[in-house]
Amino acid sequence: MSEKFDLLVIGGGSGGLAHAQRAAEYGARAAVVESGPLGGTCVNVGCVPKKVMWYAAHHAHQFHHAADYGFDIDVNGHDWRGLKTRRDAYIERLNGIYENNLDKRGVTYIAGHARFTGTHTVDVNGTAYEAGRIVIATGGRPMVPDIPGAGHGITSDDFFELEERPQRVLVAGSGYIAVELAGVFNALGSDVHVVVRKDRILRTFDTMLSDELMEAMGRNGIDLDTGAVPASVERTGDGLVLHAEDGRTFGPVDSIVWAIGRSPNVESLDLGNAGVEQDDDGFIPTDKFQRTNVENVFALGDVTGRAALTPVAIAAGRRLGDRLYGGVEGRHLEYELIPTVIFSHPTIGTVGLTEDEARAAYGDDVKVYLSAFNGMYYALGLDKQRSVMKLITAGDDERVIGAHVIGDGADEMMQGFAVAIRMGATKKDFDDTVAIHPTSSEEFVTMR
Ligand SMILES: Cc1cc2nc3c(=O)[nH]c(=O)nc-3n(C[C@H](O)[C@H](O)[C@H](O)COP(=O)(O)OP(=O)(O)OC[C@H]3O[C@@H](n4cnc5c(N)ncnc54)[C@H](O)[C@@H]3O)c2cc1C
Repeated sequence: MSEKFDLLVIGGGSGGLAHAQRAAEYGARAAVVESGPLGGTCVNVGCVPKKVMWYAAHHAHQFHHAADYGFDIDVNGHDWRGLKTRRDAYIERLNGIYENNLDKRGVTYIAGHARFTGTHTVDVNGTAYEAGRIVIATGGRPMVPDIPGAGHGITSDDFFELEERPQRVLVAGSGYIAVELAGVFNALGSDVHVVVRKDRILRTFDTMLSDELMEAMGRNGIDLDTGAVPASVERTGDGLVLHAEDGRTFGPVDSIVWAIGRSPNVESLDLGNAGVEQDDDGFIPTDKFQRTNVENVFALGDVTGRAALTPVAIAAGRRLGDRLYGGVEGRHLEYELIPTVIFSHPTIGTVGLTEDEARAAYGDDVKVYLSAFNGMYYALGLDKQRSVMKLITAGDDERVIGAHVIGDGADEMMQGFAVAIRMGATKKDFDDTVAIHPTSSEEFVTMR
C-alpha cells in the first residue's frame, strides 16, 4: 500500500517549497520530495551564496576608494577559504530553517529521488506514493558544452565548491551568471577573461546595459573576447587552454567556468509514465495556471523554462496554492514586468521592455529618456564609475513600459519603481514624484 497525499511536490527548491507550504496552510495534506539539500538552487548554489560572494567583491571595490574618504588602509589579502567556511555554515543554517518551516506547516518531507510511475503515483527510492495532484518543481542545472575536454572546466555549482581562488580564470558565457562570477573573481584578485559566442554580453537585456557593463568590465581589468565558439579544451603543462572554432586559443588558465545556460532537471523523472509533455529543449510547458497537458500534474519554476528567477518560482507556487486549495479563482502569475537585478560591478536593475522590444511593439509611439552621470560617491576621487538610466515610454500619455539602470545602488533601486510601472505609471507620474536627494535613484524622476 502506498502512502497517500492530496499534493505531492517533486523538488524542494524555491517554487516547490513555496507551493507545498501555501497548500498546507489551506489544509492540504502535502509532501515534498527532495533529492538534495532543501532550498534548491537559490539557497545552495545560486542567489544566496552568490550574493555573499558579491558582498565580498563589493568590499574589495570599496577598499579601492577608501583613501578618497581619508582612510589609510592596507589590505593584506583575502581569505577565500575562510569566507567559504562561513558561507557554507550560513547555508547549512538555512537548510535547517527550511526543514523546520515544513515541519511547522505539517508538510511531510521525503528525502530521495522521485520518478513517476503513473499520473497519480511516484516512486521515491523504492517507496511508492500516491497523490491527488503532483507538482513538478525540479528546477535546472548548469549546461556543459559537448566538446572534447569540456570536463576540465567547472560550472557555477562547482564554483561554490572552490576551496581556493584560481588566479587565472576563463569564464565562457554571456548571461548574468557569467558576468556575476567574472566580477567576483576579478574584484577578489584573479585575472579574468570572459569569452562569449556572439557579439556581446547580456544579449537579452537593453543594449545600453550591456554596452555600459562591457566598458566597466574592461576598466576593471576583465578581458572580453566576442564571437568565439568553444571547440575543445586542452590541459597543457601550464594550465587549461580553450580552443575556439575559428582557431583562436584562450589561456592557459587555472580554471575554466562554463556559464553557457541551464537545462531542466527532467531526465530521471520518467515523465513518460505520466504522459507529461516536454518542449524541444526538455522544459515542461504550462499554461498561465501552471497546468501541464496532464490534468492533475502541474509544473512551476525553472523547469518550465520561463523567467528563471527565485521570486518567479515562489510567486507561481503560492498563486497556484491559492487557486487550488484557497479557493481564489483565476489566481495566477503574470509573467510580464518581472523586475530583476544583475549583481555585476556595477549592478544592473531592469524591468519591462528593452528599447528594441518597445520599438518593435509600439513603433514611433516610443519615447526614450536617458541620463548618464557620475554618482556623488565618486566626487572626491579620480576613479569614477558612471551610472546610466533609461526610461522607455509608449503612447500619448507616455506610460512607462521599461526602466533600466546600471550603476551603484541599482540593485536596491528597482523594486519600488517596478510597483509603480506595474500600476501603469506614466512619465508625468514620475515627474510629479518628489525626488529623494542626494541619491542616484532621484534621476529617474528628474529626467527630461
Ligand atoms: C549561480 C546562480 C545565481 C542565481 N542568482 C539568482 C538571483 O540572484 N536572483 C534570482 O531570483 N534567481 C537567481 N538564480 C536562479 C534561481 O536560483 C532559480 O530560478 C530558482 O532556484 C528556481 O527555483 P525552482 O524551485 O524552480 O528550482 P530549484 O531551486 O532548482 O529547485 C529544484 C529542486 O528539485 C530537486 N530535484 C530535481 N529533480 C528531483 C527529483 N527527481 N526528485 C527529487 N528532487 C528533485 C533539486 O535537487 C532541487 O533542489 C540563480 C541561479 C544560479 C545558478
